[in-house]
Parts: sequence; structure tokens; C-alpha cells
Amino acid sequence: MSHCKYCAFATHQPHLHEPGEVLALLDGAAKRRVKELLVLTGDEPDHHPGVRARLAALGFADFVAYVVWCCERALERGLLPHTNLGALAHEDLARLREVTASQGLMLESMRDDLVAHQASPTKAPARRLQTIRDAGALRIPFTSGVLVGIGESEEDRMAALEALAAVHAEFGHLQEVILQNFVPHRRYYGEEPADIATEAADTYWRTGLGEHPDLPRPAWSTPVSIDDMRRLVGEARRLLPGVGVQVPPNLADWWPELVASGATDLGGLSANGDHISPEHPFPSPTQVRKRLAQDGVALTERLCVYSRFIDPEWVSQGVLDMIKARFWSFIPRKGSGRREERVIRGDLVADAVHRARDGARLTEDELTALFAEDRPEAIEDMRQAADELRAELAGDTVTFVVNRNINVSNVCVVGCAFCGFGQGKRSPDAYEHDEPEFVRRVREAVDFGASEICMQSGIHPDWGLEDYEHWLRVAKATAPDLHLHAYSAMEVDHMCRTSGLPPLEVFERLRAAGLGSVPGTAAEVLDDGVRQRISPNKLPVGRWVEIIGAAHEAGLRSTVTVMFGHVEEPWELAEHMRVVRALQERTGGFTEFVPLSFIPFHTLLGRTHGIEEISREENLKHTAVFRLALGRTVRSLQASWVKMGLDAATEALRWGVNDLGGTLMEENISRLAGSYHGVRLEPEDLVEAAHRAGRPAAERTTLYGIRRRYPVPAATA
Ligand code: SF4
Repeated sequence: MSHCKYCAFATHQPHLHEPGEVLALLDGAAKRRVKELLVLTGDEPDHHPGVRARLAALGFADFVAYVVWCCERALERGLLPHTNLGALAHEDLARLREVTASQGLMLESMRDDLVAHQASPTKAPARRLQTIRDAGALRIPFTSGVLVGIGESEEDRMAALEALAAVHAEFGHLQEVILQNFVPHRRYYGEEPADIATEAADTYWRTGLGEHPDLPRPAWSTPVSIDDMRRLVGEARRLLPGVGVQVPPNLADWWPELVASGATDLGGLSANGDHISPEHPFPSPTQVRKRLAQDGVALTERLCVYSRFIDPEWVSQGVLDMIKARFWSFIPRKGSGRREERVIRGDLVADAVHRARDGARLTEDELTALFAEDRPEAIEDMRQAADELRAELAGDTVTFVVNRNINVSNVCVVGCAFCGFGQGKRSPDAYEHDEPEFVRRVREAVDFGASEICMQSGIHPDWGLEDYEHWLRVAKATAPDLHLHAYSAMEVDHMCRTSGLPPLEVFERLRAAGLGSVPGTAAEVLDDGVRQRISPNKLPVGRWVEIIGAAHEAGLRSTVTVMFGHVEEPWELAEHMRVVRALQERTGGFTEFVPLSFIPFHTLLGRTHGIEEISREENLKHTAVFRLALGRTVRSLQASWVKMGLDAATEALRWGVNDLGGTLMEENISRLAGSYHGVRLEPEDLVEAAHRAGRPAAERTTLYGIRRRYPVPAATA
């Protein structure tokens, strides 16, 4: 329809990907686990009689109907459609809304007299703004932007940003603005830009070498400097707060500087290049990640629809269902607003700390307020109360257990987003110990002086109850005196499902095979909302409680854990503590509470949500709140040196902690999530840590019998 002078993409020849070609492209993309289908076309392609005739022959009423069909096929294959079909009518946007996650249209400019736009009726600013407004009224998450260097002045660029800001102020639907600089192109007449783009991208991703042709600038264009772009980024941030600012990383080398100036997004790093600027391939995610790391900036992945728009208000139900099924880890935390309103500070916290010191059960609002507290003096009060409660319940002695972890296999079918350990069966990193290797590890533990083997694995699709019993028997036959602390509630759930037996009977069988106690892992956060977001395939809260309750009923003690510092809200941790305390008040089966802070580095959850490791201060504050939340119901609170490091774990001894956990010898689960605190400690390291804190140490058994005491040496006492 239009003849924009900067465009080398439009051919003005009738060209339409046939349905068969579309399906082949989608199948190929789905195989490569591509997440987005970007449908980008010229304005009104069906104004061309050739395209119109072909669409009619295929049975489509118009071009939008054909794109809807393509998007449906993409959704079926797990790709999220984002369409940019130029200036569209309200009803066309509405039709596309049903099958897309987001849509877009560059405003380009507010000038209606640009030479570059002569003979381009669809580039009339009023028409394009109307499309953007219509999208807002339809609640469509939308991407827009301005072109830079197509003959406009700096004031013109600001006018375009101001126009976008005004529409956004009314509808709130802009997720990002693209600031796209013009680069001159040669003509691709008679060639296929897609092929040129794919070839250029392939070379660049393989070799890191890209050829960016340096062509003379046409007379109608305006030169653009990095300072112009920096100012524009700053103005976009000012005029459109909360809206992403995208700069293309393939059209100039200045993108790292623009990121440093406030740009927040690099668009899609498409593996098959840029079909609009085919000789300008995108750098690969690895190349971008490395470059940004030099500036201390992390690259995180997003979907075409920004996370805050993943909501029934903004996305049609069909698309939302697909996001929930495939891309759940991108769904943001919910509910904080609702609950945070109810968090009243001040006296609520002071009263709660006072009551918790006396062992009282705190309300959900009180616990939420404690987890959310950030005033240093209130946090110090919490620390002191937690420390006093620890002294009352567990005394001064710092305990630890000499143990060994054995993760018999990392094969797992569950796929939790926070996990760097579980692997698919065919993954090159999957492993499964054979019996001689398992026995060797048990013997090594005995030689090390261990009193406990802690045994957990992924959820292996081929294992049944007998396999789990087998490993217990082999361990007992090898080392009859070792205490076997084994199998998470998730593994027990798997045993129940494969054997058809209820949890109590499964525990009776495991006990007969040598099981001594049960790790309280797979608890993560005992709130089904959080579980849906981080591990939707994992057992729900009710089942976790049922299984651990059955373990206690079978006479087996267990620990209980919490995994915090990721996407959970303070009120969700409050709910976790409510569930834990209620179960403990019913069964009394928990020996200890083990806070595990989330290690984000090599996990899907860390990557997709850009989660950073929780700070030491927040970690310690949470530790104190866990102690206060438990009151007198659980005697022992552990600090995990694997998660927080031995130095912070030693400091945690002043925050309500009385136990430093195990020596472990072989710690895989946190290591594979990127923990840098090591895989084993010697008993002396833990004794020294306790003594550094001025406290006596003792080696304990799993069930808190004392094996050996280490009083504080006279010199440091
Ligand atoms: S946390 Fe456990 S269940 Fe989840 S993926 Fe990792 S190994 Fe599997």
C-alpha cells in the first residue's frame, strides 16, 4: 500500500506464504523451542489484487483472517503470536486479540510531511495514532515506537514520544517503545530478504563476525549520533515511566551505551535474522550476555507479552491458557497489592515480636508485616527476640551432623523452574548410579565418620516403590549403623502413585527396608499460588501435608524446609508458616526447621524473572522471622551454609539459629543451581564457626542425640 523510502522490505509484488509453508515454518520453529511467532507485514497487503485473489482461493475473507489462522496454528504448536500488520481498523485488532499475546505498530513520527513518507497513506500520524488508541481501548498489550533519522528533527522525535505518552496515560497498554535508528539499505529486488537475513545471522552467531554494509545516507535522512540516542532514551524513560525502552542491537554498535543510559530491552534476538534489515543480523544471546556482563548488567528473557500484562484483563483466555501451560515461569507474582494493603506497620510489628517471644501464634497479618519489615530498629528487635527464643528452647550449644548426601539419580520428570538439578532421561547430563557406585559412596561416608546418609533423587519415571526400598536395603546391608534420612514427599507421592498404596503403607514398607527419618523438602512455599508459579507439576500443599503427616503417624520424624527469596510474597511465607505450625501442633513430628534461600544462577526461574540472590541482610531477617513464627513448637532452627555461605550461617547463630546442618560431603542440588559455597565441609569447620560465635559446639545424630561435644576453647571463651 505504501512506498516508504527507507524500506527495502516491501516488494509490491503479490507474495503470500502458502499455508503449507506456514505450517513447515511453524513446525521447524516449534522443534527449536522458539517461543514467539512475530507476524510482520507491510500495510494492507490485500489491497493487491493478486494477494486478494490468492486469499479468496484459499477460502479466507481477507488478510487478517489468514493471519488469525496462522496464529491459531502457532498457538497449537506452543508459539505465542505477536502481530504487527500496520495501521488496522478496530475490528481487525479485535479479531487478532483473540489469537495473539500482544500486538504492535510503530508510530514512527508525528510529522505528516516527511519526504520519506511521500506516497505512503498509511503513515499518516493521525491514522496510526488511531490504531494505537483502538488497541488501548481493546486492552491489547502493545508495542510502539519512533523511527530516528528519517528526516525529522529532535523536536519531532519528542513530539512523537509525547503523543505516545498521552495515549498511554489514557489506556496504560504500552509495554514498550522502540527507538529505531534508520540504516540505509541496498535494494533487494528479485532476492529473498529472509534468505539473506538467515545466512547473515548464521555466520554472525557461529563466528561472531558480522558484515554491516556502510552505505551512503540518502538526502532525505538526518544523521543520528549516539548523544541524540542517549537523550531520546532518557526522554522516553521520563515521559513513559514503567514502559520498556527498546533499542535494536543489530542496527548500531552503540546499544551497550544505550543500555547504560537507561534502555531496558533489546527486542527479539532472532536466530534467523532481521527480515527488514537483512544484512544486520542480531547478536546471539550469548554474545549479548557476555557484552552486558562487562558492565555488570544481566540479560533476562521475556515473552512477547510483558509479564505484567499476563492477566485475563489483557490477554484472551485461549492465549492465557497456553501461557499457563507452557510459560508459567514468566507469570508474575500475584496478590501482593491485595495483601500489602492490610500490612499495618508500627505497633503491629512491635506487639507481634513481643507476643512471638512468648511463643504465641501470630496472625497472618502480623507474620506478613514481619516478613516485609525494613526498619533497622524493628529488625534488631526481631533478631533479639529470635535469639532469646533460641536460647530458651535449644540453649547455647551449636549442633551439626556428620552426614553424606547421595543423589542416586538426577533423572526427573517434574521440571520445577527453580531447579538446576533435575534432568530429562535423555539429557547428556542425566546420570544414575549403579549399585557398586552407590555402595562405594556409602562406604566412603562410613570412613568419613558419618552417622547419616541423606538420600534424595529426581522423580525417575522408571522407578517404583521396590527401587526405593532396594536402595535403603543396600545402604543398610553396607553400613547397618548409618541412619537413613531419605525421600522427599514428592518421591513418596511418586511411590504411592506407582504402587497404588496410601502414604502410610508406603512409609511402613520404607521403614521396614531401613528408613530412619524423612527430609521435609519439596515444601518450597506451602501456598498453592506460589507452587503454581514455580513448580506446577509438584504435589499441592494438601498432599504434602498428608504425606508428611503420614510419615509422623508411621513413627518417622521429619525435618521441614522453606525455599524463599524468589517470587513469593511476604503473605505467602506467612501462609507457609501457618501450615507448618498447624501440622507440628497436630503431630509434633518435626525435628527442625530448615530455611533454604533460593539460588537463582543456573535456574529457569532465575533467568526468566531476573531474580538476584537474596541479600545477606534479608536472609538473616527472614531467619529470625521463621524462629518467631514457630514459637515454641519446633525446637531447632538450622542455617544452611550451602545456601548462604558459612560466614552468613555463623552470623545467623545470633538470629535464632542453633544448628548448622550437615557436612554433606557431596552437595549437588545447590551446586547445580549455581551456589558457590562449596560441596563439603569438615566437622572442624563447623566447630570453628560455632566457636567464632562464642558458642560451644556438638556433633549430633539426625534425631538430636549428642555424639561429641566441643566446648569453647579457654582462650576464646
Ligand atoms: S526440584 Fe526435585 S522434583 Fe523438581 S525438578 Fe528438581 S529434582 Fe525434579
